[in-house]
Amino acid sequence: MKARLDNLCRRIQAAAVACGRRPEAVRLVAVSKTWPAEDVREAIGAGIRIIGESYIQEAREKIAVLADQPVSWHFIGHLQSKKAKYAVKLFDLIHTVDSVKLGAELQKEAQKIGKIQGILLQVNTGMEASKSGVAPEAVMDLARELSRFGNLRILGLMTIPPLYNEPEKVAPYFRELRLIRDRIQAENISNVRMEELSMGMTGDFEVAIQEGATLVRIGSALFGERG
Ligand SMILES: *Cc1c(COP(=O)(O)O)cnc(C)c1O
Repeated sequence: MKARLDNLCRRIQAAAVACGRRPEAVRLVAVSKTWPAEDVREAIGAGIRIIGESYIQEAREKIAVLADQPVSWHFIGHLQSKKAKYAVKLFDLIHTVDSVKLGAELQKEAQKIGKIQGILLQVNTGMEASKSGVAPEAVMDLARELSRFGNLRILGLMTIPPLYNEPEKVAPYFRELRLIRDRIQAENISNVRMEELSMGMTGDFEVAIQEGATLVRIGSALFGERG
């Protein structure tokens, strides 16, 4: 684990430096879906500070075991409105908000427990029917609507691009996310900050960093191939 993490951190730093960005501007989200709590504990021991989980039930079990650990938990999976309560309770940042309905549910639950919930808006940059996320042309309206919810803080955007074998082919999708970010930022909507771009996984994080990623979500390169 330690060797894999060191290697990964070197690659992240090199990718940042290669395009003139500060290495600290890119943070690693260790994606631990399907891996047991003990593997996550080992990753934390090796220096991981952000854990990404994709399924609420799985995350609830792991977080219960690892509650004393000094890490931030991020939700990166598809979130059903009826699970909003758990998501708000468990996660510092929810990467996958893509509708007013879900936002309203998160607002309600965050208000109940007096929390300001950090969220990212998930954008379906590839316009794939199989993927969640709001259409690129609808992100601005979604940001405006959600900005009215006082217990939500919109901190940026997230995307999962179409799957290609060549990482260069995904660059346009990452670039599009950055351009949407720039457009929203230019509107200066109150309660909307556009600090984070969550993009890049094991196969394409270097390209994502080149296009401005601030959060890279990496599973396999750290934990190994999922079974
Ligand atoms: C599983 C997953 C990842 C990590 O994928 P790897 O290819 O294993 O790095 C990143 N983001 C999301 C949304 C995921 O579901």
